[in-house]
Amino acid sequence: MTAVGTHCPYCALQCATTLHPVGRPGAVAVQPRDFPTNRGGLCRKGWTAPEVLTVPDRLTRPLVRDAAGELVETSWDEALDFVADRIRVLQAAHGNDAVAVFGGGGLTNEKAYALGKFARVTLRTSNVDYNGRFCMSSAAAATNRAFGVDRGLPFPLEDLGGAGAILLVGSNLAETMPPAVAHLKAARAAGGLIVVDPRRTATAGLAEDGAGVHLQATPGSDLALVLALTHVILQEGLGDTAYLEARTDDPDGLYRSTAAWWPERAERITGVPASTIRQAARVLAAAAPMHGGAGAFILTGRGAEQHSKGTDTVTACINLALALGLPGRLGSGYGCITGQGNGQGGREHGQKADQLPGYRSIADPAARSYIAGVWGVEPDELPGPGRSAVELINALGTPDGPRALLVHGSNLVVSAPRLASVRERLAALDLLVVADVVPSETALLADVVFPVTQWAEEEGTMTSLEGRVLRRRAAVPAPGEVRSDLAVFAGLAERLRPSIPFSTDPAEIFEELRAASAGGIADYSGISWSRLDAGEALFWPCPAEDHPGTPRLFADTFGTPDGRARVIAVDHQPVADDLRDDAPLYLVTGRLLQHYQSGAQTRRVAELTEAEPEVFAEIHPRVAAQLGVADGRPVRLATARGSMVLPARVTADVRPDTVFVPFHYGGEGSVNELTNDALDPISRMPEFKVCAVDLTPAWAV
Ligand code: SF4
Repeated sequence: MTAVGTHCPYCALQCATTLHPVGRPGAVAVQPRDFPTNRGGLCRKGWTAPEVLTVPDRLTRPLVRDAAGELVETSWDEALDFVADRIRVLQAAHGNDAVAVFGGGGLTNEKAYALGKFARVTLRTSNVDYNGRFCMSSAAAATNRAFGVDRGLPFPLEDLGGAGAILLVGSNLAETMPPAVAHLKAARAAGGLIVVDPRRTATAGLAEDGAGVHLQATPGSDLALVLALTHVILQEGLGDTAYLEARTDDPDGLYRSTAAWWPERAERITGVPASTIRQAARVLAAAAPMHGGAGAFILTGRGAEQHSKGTDTVTACINLALALGLPGRLGSGYGCITGQGNGQGGREHGQKADQLPGYRSIADPAARSYIAGVWGVEPDELPGPGRSAVELINALGTPDGPRALLVHGSNLVVSAPRLASVRERLAALDLLVVADVVPSETALLADVVFPVTQWAEEEGTMTSLEGRVLRRRAAVPAPGEVRSDLAVFAGLAERLRPSIPFSTDPAEIFEELRAASAGGIADYSGISWSRLDAGEALFWPCPAEDHPGTPRLFADTFGTPDGRARVIAVDHQPVADDLRDDAPLYLVTGRLLQHYQSGAQTRRVAELTEAEPEVFAEIHPRVAAQLGVADGRPVRLATARGSMVLPARVTADVRPDTVFVPFHYGGEGSVNELTNDALDPISRMPEFKVCAVDLTPAWAV
């Protein structure tokens, strides 16, 4: 085979690559390609991604659990027959909602679309949601209510390159998306990089070293901090009053909701000196267009979003951007740094509990009628909104909950919060089916495992964090009896509802997806396979084949009924599981340069595991000295949900009141044993990012 142009399998930056088959079955070498998001760069994960194609424990045949409790190889037909029979029995006894489907933000657009359609049309269940609920759902909820549209970055990433200031709230770009750092260069050189993070991450270090600002706020206090930044801007007359009048629905509301957030008050909650808050606000304002600056951006990541008040925290960031007149202005704006590879496309095509393709609401009668027409069913056949991810997991195996779960592209027993409960709920099921590439921790619990294709073995489309639709291309054949997730949907549909067959051809499914998205918020109808193959950079909405796509949104109007952005008053709230005498520190979770999400792929790459082989707890030297804990010694972390023992990594990069643990590890290294599943009331995002924890030397227990 010849060289093939495709994109990295991991994060939403979707760095462009060229794959060269190297002669060994299934193996490729990777080279970066020049592309606007990565500019010829790749991170360590991208360089080593080919190793995942040939890992020794790659799943190559379907597995079914036998009477002795072992997973044994079987044929596709036997596995599909078994699953279809069990589904039939369970739905006959308990109703359609007895079967649930859980998707993933790494699935291609075609798989995400087919998964949602399979749930609604074949299974006719309302119980479908996905792991994007754990990722950027708070930003999606906040942008939907403020702008009427959710597109992670409503502008091309390259626009950051001209900015004089960039405020990053809870995003560690330098480790999660290293090639993106090139786009921060101008802002950093201007002393305009401002980073909000309780740790001195690599990104915070870039800000400090570039004479920018690191706001090392108390975990869970971002909302108060952003309210104070907005307060300074408005009280010092730095706000864009003309923009607020012309483009928002309630300028006065913005003043009212931030009036009580003077920096000295915020300092008591955030721990950030009032003078530093004022400095950051002025740096940001100086770069805003109304002051003749080069442009300013406010960007949020999981640090701002994975909270029980994540939607309000992002809303505060949007309000700050509105105060400065940024959204819709060329070279400025607000955006969310989406994390998962297809975190953007994954939330557009109908695998969410409340959504139909085209980013349509499942509760909207017109949307139901349109999509039912595309699918060849009656509108009233379509189920209504279902349970969100955590609520779905918590209902598994309960008297009113699903009895069966099909998981595609998700490793729940590492990536979901409060893992003891997750395992308990999965164990209560009558049927657990997992489609995966490797025997992930979740696959090992399944009754049936389907071996499925991965990035370099499949065709399809992905949508980057900017809403740019990209082609994924196959460079090597899949090994053994591996098939696409699409074959699982098609095989089960053939057995359960043959009158509505499912294609296994990604190009054919993309054609249907285009039709389903037509007229929706995320309109792909003008984006053809051939335009993508010709190399056109196509951002949705793209409503016709002669339409150039829409790289920048909101230039003239927002997606709300009156075209104005909504100013929504929000206020600081304490974290759901706050500090107390027996849990006096904050536990914060996050990511490492070397690993991706649950680590199911990257923990199988030798170079990455050698660099970061095991979980650890970052603790401040002062805490280490108080407890007599030396670097590398075991400590015990205990929260209201569980405990774990792990080595300490003593560093002054973390606040003295904070313990940081990466979440990429499985088994006894899973920090999600400890995290809290308290939900944001709007986005239904669990509060991964902060909870109270007790820290003791492990030998003292
Ligand atoms: Fe690029 Fe992300 Fe892949 Fe790294 S993991 S190479 S930043 S797409």
